[in-house]
Amino acid sequence: MSIAQNIAEIENKIFANKVKLVAVTKNHSVSAMLEAIAAGVVAVGENRVQETLAKYPEVTVRAAKPVEWHLIGHLQTNKVRQIVPLIDLIHSVDSERLAVEIDKIAGTLGKRQEVLVQVNVADEDSKYGISVNQALPLAKFINNLENVRLCGLMTIAPFSENPETVRPVFKELYQLFGELKGLNLANTDIKWLSMGMTNDYMVAIEEGANLVRIGTGIFGSRQ
Ligand SMILES: *Cc1c(COP(=O)(O)O)cnc(C)c1O
Repeated sequence: MSIAQNIAEIENKIFANKVKLVAVTKNHSVSAMLEAIAAGVVAVGENRVQETLAKYPEVTVRAAKPVEWHLIGHLQTNKVRQIVPLIDLIHSVDSERLAVEIDKIAGTLGKRQEVLVQVNVADEDSKYGISVNQALPLAKFINNLENVRLCGLMTIAPFSENPETVRPVFKELYQLFGELKGLNLANTDIKWLSMGMTNDYMVAIEEGANLVRIGTGIFGSRQ
């Protein structure tokens, strides 16, 4: 199937739930990205700073319409300066140190950078993200930063052939999302629950996701 057909099929499945699609374009070409944007994608997600910087100018010039850029991968503090000017939503804030650096750089640009806190719900050693216990303290910390706006939470579930096995992970993040909203932090806009990838996005949506990150399901497997 073509990129456009894959997007149409996914949009059909998620539309009724008012879920937003981030097309994950890492390791895929600029021409594949342009095809996706022409087919209606409104947000693209990249996980590496260097790759984002390399593709951004050409995509921006050639795209049929403007598109949001989301950074979904781990961000090192020394790359913040390069990436903040380009990115609409950073999904991967997992430390005070990183949040402070984003605040500093966004301030120099006169920008308020929207971010999500990445939570390592399953406590996997191999994954970035803050632990469930530390997530709300980090949210309160970010609430006090002038140039950062916290907009919700993100998680990457452990990989599993059977998405049912990770349903409890999504349930737990949804509950934390409710607690975060309940804090009513003055400078936040808690609206995004980013969870679900190609293998598990329908389960994630059933558990409350409203932002899904899909690569393989749109573009096929990565090299
Ligand atoms: C690669 C990636 C995705 C997309 O994964 P697919 O299985 O190809 O849909 C989603 N989120 C993050 C953080 C990723 O790095």
